[in-house]
Amino acid sequence: MSEPFLTITDLHAGYGAAKVLHGLSFSVDRGEICAILGPNGAGKTTLLRALSGMVRTSGGIRLDDADIAGRNPEAIARRGVAHVPEGRGTFGPLTVEENLRLGAYPRRDRAGVETDLNRVFDFFPVLRDKRRDVAGGLSGGQQQMLAIGRALMLRPRLLLLDEPSLGLSPLVTQELFGLIATINEQERITVLVVEQNAHLALGISSHAHVLETGRIVLSGTAAEIRSDEKVVQSYLGYRV
Ligand code: ATP
Repeated sequence: MSEPFLTITDLHAGYGAAKVLHGLSFSVDRGEICAILGPNGAGKTTLLRALSGMVRTSGGIRLDDADIAGRNPEAIARRGVAHVPEGRGTFGPLTVEENLRLGAYPRRDRAGVETDLNRVFDFFPVLRDKRRDVAGGLSGGQQQMLAIGRALMLRPRLLLLDEPSLGLSPLVTQELFGLIATINEQERITVLVVEQNAHLALGISSHAHVLETGRIVLSGTAAEIRSDEKVVQSYLGYRV
């Protein structure tokens, strides 16, 4: 049975005087992958920043049974929200392993961290092979895997992914989305993924919301959204 895990109510956010999100309301069920689609500048990144406490917000954000609206990023991370930003945010001069260990910074359980490091290496064997290499030398796809791996080191309950396909070849992107689906299934992590590549995102999601100029203009199951010609043409362009 579906059960809301993340509930957003009348969420507003922006940068100083610039208002970007104008009253978003939706929920994400526990354990599902939910996609946020929409054109450049729609506010998708701002939505993820709002959820992880990086921009000022008004409105409600509930994670499970906790109100996280207005909390700082560290407090939100401690609640189990891991954010993989656009551009990945890995540290180029540090090794793969150092980057992964940084992801576990709020944790105190050392043994658990070692177990999770191995779990990340099992999901992304290339990272095990390159654990002593500097992150800056990895390919784009490997850096995205590292960024996701680092987020997993937090042992998150909610994973926020911002444009994971950005700058990657179609083949690498497809592999990456397959891995995201596997992680969601095996780790039972709820995933909110922002993507411009609607086709790929809808392929792994159960629900999706389309954002335009800071408002949700369409919501539905991934199947509903994919199967509606008009929707595809009006909102998602050629990308589906
Ligand atoms: P993209 O795919 O281009 O990243 P997006 O849907 O993620 O688009 P946002 O990055 O959230 O959109 O941007 C929404 C609006 O907020 C845009 O008009 C953008 O110019 C503005 N904006 C984004 N970041 C900032 C910032 N740090 N300061 C001021 N305005 C910003």
